[in-house]
Amino acid sequence: MASMWDSAVQKRSSELHQDTWQVIFDDSIIINSIAPGWFQYISGSFARFTCSLCRRSWGSARAQVVFLFHLNSSSGQGTIKVRRFKQKCKNCTDAQMEDPFFSEDNIDVLVERLVKKIRMRCYREDLAEMNRSSIFDGRMNGPHESSHCEACQQGVCSQATS
Ligand SMILES: [Zn+2]
Ligand SMILES: [Zn+2]
Repeated sequence: MASMWDSAVQKRSSELHQDTWQVIFDDSIIINSIAPGWFQYISGSFARFTCSLCRRSWGSARAQVVFLFHLNSSSGQGTIKVRRFKQKCKNCTDAQMEDPFFSEDNIDVLVERLVKKIRMRCYREDLAEMNRSSIFDGRMNGPHESSHCEACQQGVCSQATS
């Protein structure tokens, strides 16, 4: 459901210079292979996953998201591609990778940080870095099973900075 992400972006359109920004899910995104004119931002937040086999649900503070964004400044059209990395159940042998479910609040926080990156990259605004410690406290705590995490397999978890 890209609509929750889309509306979180639309809420901040005044920060995006009233340009039109569109959010698209794209599971084919590969990190660090970026087309010219595009920028990459890796972030993460808490999300819930549900196993479609046993219906078990679990939370992960390391649900990683990769954003690619691009502004066509002549038309005022921006595009944000989002890949949300999946995780799979550790109890089921044939478990499949499941999509994360992010709460609206967590989407808001992710989009807030993303918009800041967009303002710096696409609009060349000189924004001071956020106070990271207050935002990322505890994010990397808790057990994290790499073999069940798609982002780990793609090298995203180890590269995720703030
Ligand atoms: Zn399961
Ligand atoms: Zn991971």
